[in-house]
Amino acid sequence: MEKIVSLCKRRGFVFPGSEIYGGLAGTWDLGPMGIGLVDNIKREWLRRFVSSREDMYGVKSSILMNSKIWEASGHINFFVDPMVDCKKCKSRFRADKIDVKNGCSNCGAHDFTEARSFNMMFKTHAGPVEDSSTEVYLRPETAQGMFVNFKNVLDTMRPKLPFGLAQVGRAFRNEITPGNFIFRTREFEQMEVEYFVREQDWKKYFEMWHKEMRAWAEDLGISGVSDREVPEEERAHYSGRTVDIDFDYPFGREELWGLAYRQDFDLSQHSKFSGQELTYHDEETKEKITPHVIEPSFGLERTMLAVLLSAYHEDGDRTVLKLKPKLAPYKVAVFPLVANKPQLVEKAREIFLSLKAGGHNLNPVFDDRGNIGKRYYAQDEIGTPWCVTVDYQTLEDDTVTVRDRDTAEQERVSAKDLETYFVDRLL
Ligand code: ATP
Repeated sequence: MEKIVSLCKRRGFVFPGSEIYGGLAGTWDLGPMGIGLVDNIKREWLRRFVSSREDMYGVKSSILMNSKIWEASGHINFFVDPMVDCKKCKSRFRADKIDVKNGCSNCGAHDFTEARSFNMMFKTHAGPVEDSSTEVYLRPETAQGMFVNFKNVLDTMRPKLPFGLAQVGRAFRNEITPGNFIFRTREFEQMEVEYFVREQDWKKYFEMWHKEMRAWAEDLGISGVSDREVPEEERAHYSGRTVDIDFDYPFGREELWGLAYRQDFDLSQHSKFSGQELTYHDEETKEKITPHVIEPSFGLERTMLAVLLSAYHEDGDRTVLKLKPKLAPYKVAVFPLVANKPQLVEKAREIFLSLKAGGHNLNPVFDDRGNIGKRYYAQDEIGTPWCVTVDYQTLEDDTVTVRDRDTAEQERVSAKDLETYFVDRLL
């Protein structure tokens, strides 16, 4: 874990939030490489689960929503974690995550207060008046934004069951103990689907989404994934069944993504609290029904962490991130063999600019600093799949060397064929 944290800092993936002021617990910032990686993960998610399917619709709802939504959803009453305080050092812990018998991790004491409920929603005020009538919450999940727009999408798009709403966006949770790098933070991004089905079909679509989630983990190169059937007493109040997709992190097996059968809980509650009818007219049976919901929920930063951990390799003295090429922030790096030969630099710049203009999301980078070996090592560490070097032979026959990140082998490729060469390998 320390190696990943250090690589992320050193190479511009993830920086501690507010670092020059000593940081702010539970927050991390993405650097240029981090943005490159998460944008590629998000794009893959949207392509796979939304644009390539005909039963999915995107929405983007506000982070601030009417507080009644959180009453209806049960978050005001139930979105709580049990919290205990250490009587000696006053540190606060999640009662279900601390080993009470072996003592508190800060001071070793065994003396804790009784567990109390702690609501994890961040509260603020909308407008200048700070009283209970202006209280609003930062959303703790994107899901509710889909339920409250169910009727709007039904009325405008006229979808047929089964269909899903999808959203990518930020969520906020006042976690009692954030930690393990970007695994548990107080602000993060979710990618969620609310998939509406007829009640009698829920098991079939639960299985479908379960398979989809496992297949996506494989497609992203995430290894070490397992399922955990969540027992009833641990499930969220709305869930009729939950399967966690767990990942073997260096700190243990923990949740990566969650799959829940939310039944008709949310639509029924919002119907009751808003007074609006949130039903679907089933043309087959000529009945109005309240659809049931299957929810695959993905955390973006946890996905990034699992991708990085799965891709991390040490090969002799080099560190290589074996990212799937489609996830790599840069697909190609272009170098002149040496920086002090203007003809080589000029040719390398020309290749770099033509790949950049090419429109295939290769996102090439140019580098002429230091020696070639160091440049290769730097690209290996950020997962760039290919390095192109312009050398003296290039000036004679217009071929360049292409070095493969995983094998470190090189082959000569004609400069004019480079774009096709990479696009063909971009899986
Ligand atoms: P945990 O048990 O780890 O607290 P959870 O069961 O509360 O997670 P869900 O409510 O199912 O999580 O949220 C859906 C997804 O959002 C999770 O699978 C995870 O990927 C992500 N997620 C949840 N909480 C956090 C957090 N504090 N930091 C980063 N990602 C998170």
